[in-house]
Amino acid sequence: MALEKHYSKLFVEQHWNVQPLSKEELVAHCERKGVVFDTLLFDEASLLCKNACLSPLCPFFLQTSEKFNRHLGGWQGKMPLGFHRFVKARATQTADKLYDLAITKWKGFPGKFDVTPEFARTYIENTLKSYALVKTV
Ligand SMILES: [Zn+2]
Repeated sequence: MALEKHYSKLFVEQHWNVQPLSKEELVAHCERKGVVFDTLLFDEASLLCKNACLSPLCPFFLQTSEKFNRHLGGWQGKMPLGFHRFVKARATQTADKLYDLAITKWKGFPGKFDVTPEFARTYIENTLKSYALVKTV
């Protein structure tokens, strides 16, 4: 249990600042890391990968895995599945508006996901910012 807690805390630290990437940025990361871009399942709707981690702090950065969903499990539960896609599709809205929409969309949000309203608001704000910062060519 103590180990699990430690893992979970470490996981959140390593993944708090995951930045969505444009395809061009991802290609550049792949070249630096020697990863074949075509092995990554890049999701244009979220600018994240479906089979590899995008946190440069994570030991599994850009490593494809069939068990990637399990890796994400360390984060899931904190935020609803599809959260990034939800934010990206509404990136022109304010964080307050998105928070209200999220409450309507996900029953029990944010308490059911074991996070406080403050955490959820901050996370929405940061996610909005991170999409605004994505460099597209
Ligand atoms: Zn990771």
